[in-house]
Amino acid sequence: MVALVTGSSRGIGRATAIELAKCGFDIAVNYCGNKEKAEETAELCRQHGVRAEVFCADVSDFSACGEMVAAIEKELGFIDVLVNNAGITRDGLLMRMDEEQFDAVYFTNLKSVYNLSKLVISRMMKNRFGRIINISSVAGIYGNAGQVNYSSAKAGVIGFTKALAKEAGSRGITVNAVAPGFIETDMTASLPDSFKEEALSRISLKRFGNAEEIAKTVAFLASEDASYITGQTIEVSGGISL
Ligand code: NAP
Repeated sequence: MVALVTGSSRGIGRATAIELAKCGFDIAVNYCGNKEKAEETAELCRQHGVRAEVFCADVSDFSACGEMVAAIEKELGFIDVLVNNAGITRDGLLMRMDEEQFDAVYFTNLKSVYNLSKLVISRMMKNRFGRIINISSVAGIYGNAGQVNYSSAKAGVIGFTKALAKEAGSRGITVNAVAPGFIETDMTASLPDSFKEEALSRISLKRFGNAEEIAKTVAFLASEDASYITGQTIEVSGGISL
């Protein structure tokens, strides 16, 4: 079985690719700019005895995604598990947020989920099996000041997940979302210490999460053990209140 993890050169995507490799999936590692890191992820996956190859594509670009899916099918086979993980932030208060900031976040975090789901769904339907796991965020559930672009895109991911779960369920395809809280990756590394301290005070478990904790939830949703779960959003946030 083949799993595509978008944005798996680093962070949550890399941890997810490795976790799925441990479960025996062949891995398509997607990246946008960081080829060296993507190659590292692929090598870490191969250490678990599976095939792993890297594929460059900007997930916000439908035709680039189409070329990537064709290349994956040629090199590894049809995609059984799609993890829509690639994402970016461009934070700022709405007063100061320009259109480019909104569009970049919207297209990378939400349109990408359409692009890749659309490209794999027919084959999954024919196979009467598939797993689509979308990485949302607690920002998409509760909203986060300074992130109207990101919060709305991630809320859109949850709506997309629920709708597609209803469309595809009769064909044995499950569609779920994972909503991480504050996870230590490059995305959160550059946030000011004052922001981090404030965030920590709102987390019940009094620590930030790590990428592996998200990866294990994704791997569960990809597994046979999660065969009767669809249309759900699983929050993995240490009990955050925003
Ligand atoms: P990260 O460390 O910044 O890594 C982002 C990954 O996405 C990289 O592999 C990057 O590839 C890839 N990427 C970015 N834009 C892309 C594009 N246009 N096309 C293809 N790949 C692209 O981020 P992360 O923290 O692991 O976040 C992963 C996901 O979790 C995102 O959807 C994020 O919104 C979500 N999330 C994160 C947190 C958190 O606290 N970290 C919380 C909630 C939700 P390159 O290396 O090639 O640039």
